[in-house]
Amino acid sequence: MAKSDYYEVLGVAKNATADELKKAYRKLAMDYHPDRNPGDKTAELKFKELNEAYEVLKDDQKRAAYDRFGHSAFEQGGGGQQPGGFEFHFGGGGGGGGGFADIFGEMFGEFMGGKSQQAQGRGADVRFDMEISLEEAFAGKQTTLNIATAVSCEPCKGSGAAAGTQPTTCATCRGSGKLRAQQGFFTIERACHTCQGAGRVIETPCKSCGGHGRVRKERALQVTIPAGVEEGTRIRLAGEGEAGISGAPSGDLYIFLSLTPHRFFLRDGANILCRIPIPMTTAALGGEIEVAILDGSRTKIAIPAGTQHGRQFRVRGKGMSILRSSQRGDLFIETQVETPVNLSKRQEELLREFQSLSEDNKTSPASHGFFDKMREFWDDLTEKSKT
Ligand SMILES: [Zn+2]
Ligand SMILES: [Zn+2]
Repeated sequence: MAKSDYYEVLGVAKNATADELKKAYRKLAMDYHPDRNPGDKTAELKFKELNEAYEVLKDDQKRAAYDRFGHSAFEQGGGGQQPGGFEFHFGGGGGGGGGFADIFGEMFGEFMGGKSQQAQGRGADVRFDMEISLEEAFAGKQTTLNIATAVSCEPCKGSGAAAGTQPTTCATCRGSGKLRAQQGFFTIERACHTCQGAGRVIETPCKSCGGHGRVRKERALQVTIPAGVEEGTRIRLAGEGEAGISGAPSGDLYIFLSLTPHRFFLRDGANILCRIPIPMTTAALGGEIEVAILDGSRTKIAIPAGTQHGRQFRVRGKGMSILRSSQRGDLFIETQVETPVNLSKRQEELLREFQSLSEDNKTSPASHGFFDKMREFWDDLTEKSKT
């Protein structure tokens, strides 16, 4: 039976946010819940379908795989090969298994030529550096990469031989790719100079690729960057690197993500820090400030009277999105009290008057206390120097 599109099942758009998905799922799950529809087979099926769709779409990686490959991304076994895997890599973590469910591998070792590089003639891995904004890392991003890599030559299907001809076994090495030479007591084995170790020679090279079997070609690749990615996240697109030599497997494509520093927000893992200058008067008298949030909404923060420089206000759940989770970190607002400048005559007068009324030092207990302590310290020092 053909499966329905997961987005249609949930009745959301393809670019629905995690929140929209959750809302849609909750509403429909309520409607079709078996408790509410006893004995109704259609509702039961619908309920199952809803759960299946939501299981996939709520998980950024599964969703990305679904967006790319559709339902075939989740079909187990079967004779067909997966059209390239989809994996994420972060520093550290274990490996093992296969497919996109097991994601966290010791990426670097693998990239630099670990287990997957063993196959002879396998195409090279390709690194693609991508810089994204904090907003994009927050919301996730669908993008198309245009990458020029070596791909298998079409007219000769990667063989390098002109149409109607075949590569022939190398006469020098008889196909072994190696030559043995006797040097004194030793037998030395070298790569065959005629075929460069390939064991085969191309007598009539393909015109399109000049006998290389590969050509450079720009390809457009759809990539989904999940919400919550961090600086240094690597996304691996299996089999999307350079084509292998004469039909050997392709390498992988690695996207190395970096984040552009933001004008206002500083990311600290799941949390976001925002330093906000506030006028001295707001800090002293109290007030309210409005802060724009990464999700496009705004939040109001009450500044109590007597707020000091560097005070942090925490806004829960308004920080960064967390990878593979519907949770969000917190937003921290740090006040930067701004001392007034460019005073008018009248303003200066008022401040002087304020100062004269503050001589009991109650308005600046920290500074006053500090200078009292500093004086004691100094008195102690001079006392000691006298004895
Ligand atoms: Zn040879
Ligand atoms: Zn060719």
